[in-house]
Amino acid sequence: MGLHRRLVLFGPPGSGKGTQAELLRDREGLDHISPGDMLRQHQAAGSELGRMASAYMDRGELVPDDVIVDMIKQRLQGEADGIGFVLDGFPRTVPQASSLGGMLEQLGQAVDAVVVLDVPEQVLTLRLARRAAREHRHDDSPEVIKQRLRVYWDQTEPVLGYLGERLPARHVDGSPPVEEVYAQLLEALA
Ligand code: AMP
Repeated sequence: MGLHRRLVLFGPPGSGKGTQAELLRDREGLDHISPGDMLRQHQAAGSELGRMASAYMDRGELVPDDVIVDMIKQRLQGEADGIGFVLDGFPRTVPQASSLGGMLEQLGQAVDAVVVLDVPEQVLTLRLARRAAREHRHDDSPEVIKQRLRVYWDQTEPVLGYLGERLPARHVDGSPPVEEVYAQLLEALA
């Protein structure tokens, strides 16, 4: 029995979702689907979508569901060959989660594992501040970091309860060094 290959990677900003998702892409060949990365590409390209999204992202707010759902729907259609995917940063609201089920059903697929990276709040704040210095992300200023964490607890964490009715989440401690977390993640997906 191999690894589960249709994944939702879940966790607060700074929990290491992006890093772990990139490892799953590079080492397991999963398609890495990150709305945050896609939106930042739109911003860099100066597209209308990028400009619209900036207004939300710069404040630490979520981009409206219909915009995100359209973007992910198109992206998933390109993934129809079934190599597997890791969703990193989607779904972030209950309406997004309910759309995901329908999108995958149309493709004859379903998510087969939900993994949560658990990291204490103080560690998250520290990591996000460090990333701010390193990557100059517009949304890593102290006030915006606070807002993104608030949005996570208010709007995103409840998604776990919703998804959990069908697929109980697997929890992984996201505090240790990257390779240690990755080893635990693989174990959780076996
Ligand atoms: P991330 O790189 O995943 O932390 O996302 C950066 C920002 O992009 C978030 O703070 C939101 O403004 C926006 N974003 C990313 N994913 C979503 C999503 N699923 N729903 C709404 N907004 C999103």
